[in-house]
Amino acid sequence: MIEEAISALEFDRNMILFNPNTGENLTLDYVEACNPMNYKLYIADGIAIEALKKQLPLECNKSSCPRCGIYTPPSHVYCSHCGQRILRLEDKVLR
Ligand SMILES: [Zn+2]
Repeated sequence: MIEEAISALEFDRNMILFNPNTGENLTLDYVEACNPMNYKLYIADGIAIEALKKQLPLECNKSSCPRCGIYTPPSHVYCSHCGQRILRLEDKVLR
């Protein structure tokens, strides 16, 4: 479900940079100047994509976060530094 949401948001971003009337690709600078609402949506989509990607667990067999490398106590499901969801390999073996 999270992967589908990320795909939908990435599609939305691609469509913001595409003019269906002319078939042209638009630059983000052009969108910012000519369609500020779409520009804000493009930025918001990007923030949402980054947040959703952190919900996809990254496997980790060490005590450091696989995304940022900061120490994360084994009992933590999320990195307290970057918010990445962590799947401990020892948890996976027990399931
Ligand atoms: Zn982290």
